[in-house]
Amino acid sequence: MSHHHGHEGRHEKRRGSHGHRVHLASPGEHHRAMTEEYKRRFLVSLLLTVPILALSPEVQGFLDYSLRFPGSIVLLWLLSTIVYFYGGRPFLVGLIGEIRRREPGMMTLVGIAISVAYFYSTAVAFFIPGRTFFWELATLIVVMLLGHWVEMKSILGASRALEKLVEALPTTAHLVKNGGYVDVHVSEVKPGDLVLVKPGERVPVDGVIVDGMTSVDESMITGESKPVYKKPGDEVIAGTINLDGSIKVRAKGVGRDTYLSQVIELVQQIQRSRSRAQDLANRAAKWLTLIALGAGSATFAIWLALGFDTVFALERAVTVMVIACPHALGLAVPLVVARSSAISASNGILVRNRRAFERAKDLSAVVFDKTGTLTKGELGVESVIVIDKRLGEEEVLRIAASLEQGSEHPIAKGILEYAEKRGVKPARVEEFRALPGIGVEGRVDGLKAMVVSPGYVAERSPRTLEEVGGVLGEGKTVVFVMLDGRPVAAIALSDVIREESREAVARLKEMGIKVFMLTGDNRHVAARVARELGIDDFYAEVLPHEKAAVIEDVKAKGYVTAMVGDGVNDAPALMAADVGIAIGAGTDIAIESADVVLVKNDPRDVPKLVELSKKTYSKMRQNLVWATAYNAFAIPAAAGALYTIGFLLPPALGALFMSMSTVIVAINASLLK
Ligand code: ADP
Ligand code: MG
Repeated sequence: MSHHHGHEGRHEKRRGSHGHRVHLASPGEHHRAMTEEYKRRFLVSLLLTVPILALSPEVQGFLDYSLRFPGSIVLLWLLSTIVYFYGGRPFLVGLIGEIRRREPGMMTLVGIAISVAYFYSTAVAFFIPGRTFFWELATLIVVMLLGHWVEMKSILGASRALEKLVEALPTTAHLVKNGGYVDVHVSEVKPGDLVLVKPGERVPVDGVIVDGMTSVDESMITGESKPVYKKPGDEVIAGTINLDGSIKVRAKGVGRDTYLSQVIELVQQIQRSRSRAQDLANRAAKWLTLIALGAGSATFAIWLALGFDTVFALERAVTVMVIACPHALGLAVPLVVARSSAISASNGILVRNRRAFERAKDLSAVVFDKTGTLTKGELGVESVIVIDKRLGEEEVLRIAASLEQGSEHPIAKGILEYAEKRGVKPARVEEFRALPGIGVEGRVDGLKAMVVSPGYVAERSPRTLEEVGGVLGEGKTVVFVMLDGRPVAAIALSDVIREESREAVARLKEMGIKVFMLTGDNRHVAARVARELGIDDFYAEVLPHEKAAVIEDVKAKGYVTAMVGDGVNDAPALMAADVGIAIGAGTDIAIESADVVLVKNDPRDVPKLVELSKKTYSKMRQNLVWATAYNAFAIPAAAGALYTIGFLLPPALGALFMSMSTVIVAINASLLK
């Protein structure tokens, strides 16, 4: 799946840095250095270009003045030499690299164009008759450097925004402390500390399991997608995802380093995620390069064959190459992507997969998870209904709270908070297991205990449901506490609908998008929430694997489908959707499975995302059309196709055209709001 972009090769890198993770160059730092370099080269070249222009006979003829003195041609050559070697260096280095890789691209084209211009002009300056191309050479390099500088700058901006955003993602570790645990920022964990990792959470540190069994998804490090079974004594690596068990880990490698390396890896992974449009533009640029090289040499050969002199043929050939530089095309998409990433990042929308982001423009159905997505996911216990009268309310609560210690589900949090408020201390749990979409189980005081959904109970003891039917009918979330396979109590909880959900649903419907809701919770709660929010249709009491099937179903009906969710149970559905969207406050596994993360936890960012995707796409198209149309017209004109009607594009005008088209593409990209 597209989610696993860029996993290759990470294992190696990770191992290399495992022993001493001291130096971590963030992607931002690299871009910053590149940006500075282009800026310096651009400014120096620009400064030198002024006297080059002033000394050039063509410019003098054009502006009708004369500046000539003994040695002026040598000075002109000297200045141009500096510009060629200093300003042109990135292109010459790029040229060598591309030829080594046998991937002639834009650098090859620019490199050859400036080299031909430089060496031919040098020969003319000292040995042979003809005209020089010094000022064309200088302006071309200046324009190219400007383009690369602007490009680097906007990519840098986007990458900075991205880093900030990734750091803003929830990154807490549960530090085990006298019996219970406290939540701290991962950077505060010290070697030797004991941390609890719940199902669906990212392992926050490198360490050894001391308690509990689980399977771990290590695909982000090894590239191997099969879960790895782990027991006490086994090592776990920071950044991997704990799947179904709850484990205690003794920390070895910790803190800022592992945390930062996770942030960096995520950012790099995001940056490697290429968009379709980008691929398309790259392929087009490559072809244009080949065409330009071919057209350049063909132009030269044909004019020579027609009996024109070398100067004329060369002038045409260089003009063709200069003008056909697919620079505008090369920038058309990256600039829009950089701009749109920066916009989405500053809006708290983290795009992990660009292809899926582009897909968002065509969405026709959005499926929302209920708990934690449309609702706040802060469940408060409303009542405890004891069924087995031999047990007291506190006793029941103690069993439930003990089990829920190992769960990351919002229900677990609600029950734990309530227990604490009532002064009930949770006990130790053995053989804990999370049953996604059903509940939790384990051994408390030697007895097999569970906290489960009404659906699970209905299959085993339907009478129980009738007994507590009252609270169920009120549209509350209800879970059952079971002991030795018998339901002993029910706990009713209620959740609050997010204010923003109403607006998000309304706006999506306005856009002509169908809105569905998908929940593991009971039918009554689902019906109430769906009615209040004006949702088109809902699916309730759905198990996690069925959630993915529902998405497949909606897709099969012809909808381009997005899934918005937060929980462990949503992860398969997020993967199945055309566009998987995770709520930032959700579980790490949901975030890892998603294409887009809404860091602000605001469902209104879903319609925003669709809008941004649409606007980004239309900007890309405009830019691509503009850049290609320009080339289609300019190449033949530069080659001299219009010579018969007396029109000959001078290289200077060609360079100007080219830079103008680049500037237009850049401005157009920056107009994306
Ligand atoms: P949702 O789709 O609303 O996010 P889930 O699929 O996570 O819901 O859960 C479905 C149902 O399974 C819950 O409504 C609850 O009845 C039960 N359940 C899930 N996890 C737990 C848990 N940790 N404790 C108790 N019940 C749970
Ligand atoms: Mg949920």
